[in-house]
Amino acid sequence: MKRTWVKDVVEKVGKKVVLFGWINSKRDHGEVVFLDLRDRSGVVQLVGGKELAEFSLEDVVAVEGKVTTRDPRFFNPRLATGKVEVQVEKITLISSAKTLPFDIYGSGKEINEEVRLKYRYLDLRRPRLQRNLYLRHQALQLFRRFLTEEGFWEIETPNLSKSTPEGARDFLVPSRLHPGKFYALPQSPQQYKQLLMVAGIERYFQIATCFRDEDLRADRQFEFKQVDIEMSFVERDDVLEVVEKIVTQVAEALGKKIYQKPFPRLTYQEAMKKFHQDKFDLRENKKEDVLAFAWVIDFPLFEKTETREINPMHHPFTAPHPEDIKLLDKDPLAVRSWQYDLVCNGEEVGGGSIRITDPKIQEKIFRILGHSPQEIKEKFGHLLEAFEYGVPPHGGIALGFDRLVSFFAGEESIREVIAFPVNASGRTAVMDAPSEVAPSQLEELGIRVVGKKK
Ligand code: ASP
Repeated sequence: MKRTWVKDVVEKVGKKVVLFGWINSKRDHGEVVFLDLRDRSGVVQLVGGKELAEFSLEDVVAVEGKVTTRDPRFFNPRLATGKVEVQVEKITLISSAKTLPFDIYGSGKEINEEVRLKYRYLDLRRPRLQRNLYLRHQALQLFRRFLTEEGFWEIETPNLSKSTPEGARDFLVPSRLHPGKFYALPQSPQQYKQLLMVAGIERYFQIATCFRDEDLRADRQFEFKQVDIEMSFVERDDVLEVVEKIVTQVAEALGKKIYQKPFPRLTYQEAMKKFHQDKFDLRENKKEDVLAFAWVIDFPLFEKTETREINPMHHPFTAPHPEDIKLLDKDPLAVRSWQYDLVCNGEEVGGGSIRITDPKIQEKIFRILGHSPQEIKEKFGHLLEAFEYGVPPHGGIALGFDRLVSFFAGEESIREVIAFPVNASGRTAVMDAPSEVAPSQLEELGIRVVGKKK
């Protein structure tokens, strides 16, 4: 007989079913024993005699039985299957479970996160996290659908590549075939997506994994997902319009309310004046279950940071505002750019820009940022060369997918919407990386570990 999903037993009253799943709870009344059986789709009550008493919580079982309607006095409104139960005819143990290290039936928020992540495969059994993973799946499908409807093509770009600067440290991967040389994992697919515009793709997207080796502040991960977008023959407002449409479609398809449509637009100056930062929360009542999106535009091209006199506010490929190009030499910090950010409920959820396509201006920006001609050639020569073969005007954006899903799910931490996140000290869930490797592996790579940084 074919398997029935637990949620579907309600349609099978009077029929025989085969169910598989985990024992979710147990009530032993001696002659009559109740077990709740859980699969991904839901929970249903099983009824039987003493033979059911030998099963423990979280055992995996196969069940054959008949679906019957419960006596109305025993309807359980908390279960979607609460009006029925399954009279067990045969139950077989597939795999037994030890006592779990923690409770998986509640929210889990009271449990130490290190322990939750060590046993993440158990933590993920809890209904809250199952819902989050399903929501994440839905959001992925919706972005793909609405982007495709707008004519975007999903194109993958390499993960083993050359550094592309987004203001963080690179993760490096040593090359065995070229000892002493390294790949860098992408901080973003920025240069590749621009090259795809040179290639004539016109509308590109990718749900891209980005890798940034930076200090793990409260809600950062070393690797994270971006909905990465690039378009040709556009100006800033074209990008904002299509991105706003897609974000709205995805949020509303997931049942979320948007605070203000169209999204308000504030200049960087206005935002700084009003909120003293470039991300802000427009909601009057922060407890409302709404998404207050807003655009920030007219960013400065450069900023002064604690460690650097001049740094790109976004990245070095962002186009200066045409009216301000004359200021590049005299007063670079006064130059405005074509950068835009998307903020939501006090967080930055996206950032992008119209790009430089004039190789001379691009070179000039690199020089202002302190790169020597030699460095420019080595690091970015490929891009400058590409721009000499017919480049369309283009621009794009990257949306922080993990953060957006956490908003859709009403979760505060992005770790609650990532299946296997790293913990606060950067160690991976369950697998406990980074770890040491065999001396033979290091030898093959021509690498000697000289000591551990204190
Ligand atoms: N590459 C940028 C980022 O990762 C986004 C963009 O400019 O499209 O923030």
